[in-house]
Amino acid sequence: MSKIELKAFFEFCRVRIVKQAVNIKSKLVFLKAKPDERYKPVCHNCKGHSDSIHSYHERTVRDMSIFESKTLIQYSYRKIRCLCCGIVVEDLALVDPTVRVTKRLASYILDLCRFMTIKEVAKHLSLDWKTVKDIHKRYLQGSFSHEDVGYPRLLAIDEISLKKRHHYLTVIINWETGRVLWVGEGRKYETLKGFFDSLTEEQRNAIQAIAIDMWDPYIKAVKESCPEAAIVFDQFHVVKAFSKVIDKVRNSEYRKADKEGKEVIKGSKYLLLKNKDNLLEEEKPKLKALLKLNEALTTVYILKDYLKKLWQYKYANCAKRFLNHWCCLAEESKIRPVMAFAKTLKRYAYGIINHCKFPIHTSRMEGINNKIKVIKRKAYGFHDVEYFSLIIKSAFAHCN
Ligand SMILES: [Zn+2]
Repeated sequence: MSKIELKAFFEFCRVRIVKQAVNIKSKLVFLKAKPDERYKPVCHNCKGHSDSIHSYHERTVRDMSIFESKTLIQYSYRKIRCLCCGIVVEDLALVDPTVRVTKRLASYILDLCRFMTIKEVAKHLSLDWKTVKDIHKRYLQGSFSHEDVGYPRLLAIDEISLKKRHHYLTVIINWETGRVLWVGEGRKYETLKGFFDSLTEEQRNAIQAIAIDMWDPYIKAVKESCPEAAIVFDQFHVVKAFSKVIDKVRNSEYRKADKEGKEVIKGSKYLLLKNKDNLLEEEKPKLKALLKLNEALTTVYILKDYLKKLWQYKYANCAKRFLNHWCCLAEESKIRPVMAFAKTLKRYAYGIINHCKFPIHTSRMEGINNKIKVIKRKAYGFHDVEYFSLIIKSAFAHCN
């Protein structure tokens, strides 16, 4: 058998390979390494040199596989007395002291994380899921935890629901660049206040308009922290709120319907909520049958489409007139949830009209929301909110 020298694949200059063993059957490469004593030990924290050895230790870490064989490196290292940091682990430029894989394997893992889920990476490298996650999280923390948000002019604030009900994240976006600036747990007044408090007065003063949901805790936080900024209720959020009204009406119509009617209404939720242009061919006759059968559902369906027109107005007076007109139609419908919604709209009219001055379009908001939903689906099983938040930030990091 030819003897391949594994040292050639070993570029870590502060350690020496003292033993190598290959077990073809169990696909395992085993290396034993020692600190290269030609170099003075270095503190892993401050990178200062020290001659004073405190103790000797040993641990085993994973390295890049060689062909299909898992590579393990058992290496010894020293704890040293550093003048600045006290007793610390020496830096061998091989691993980070708390990570169980070599630096080069960690960097390969990060490359894979750009294209695969944590679970897939872990499976591919036969590593523990948590090891992969920790490496990824640490990298994201280093890159995105203390980013400077700059001086954004327009902000968009959205909330996303996590797996458990009543568990939310607040996401703050620089409207003009699409970059996610901040992610916080919850959707309370305190959540948003936390973001504003992290800004300087200059940064807060630079904000001209903020698109948010018609959600009083957010409104209160904005009014308090950025009293000069205009609050804008964008189409995406308002239509989303009306979608809930449609669902309420649909449920009550279902309860009232006879057997045949129930059959038609059943499973029609998304038919009614979907954008007309996005309907599939087979969905069109279903929607037609539904609207033919039920007057209340027809009314809310038409009102939903009509409501969207509101954001086409460029002049505040015209928008105001249209809003009043829409509210009259809603009241005439005599459908209770629709009437209640009209009241809400009137209460929040100022922010809807502000759209004329700050036309914050829905498409971008929807795009960001959809992208986060995809991340959420990929990140299944994660209960680590900080990690999830960092993933969201990194996904929008190129938007500058
Ligand atoms: Zn030190």
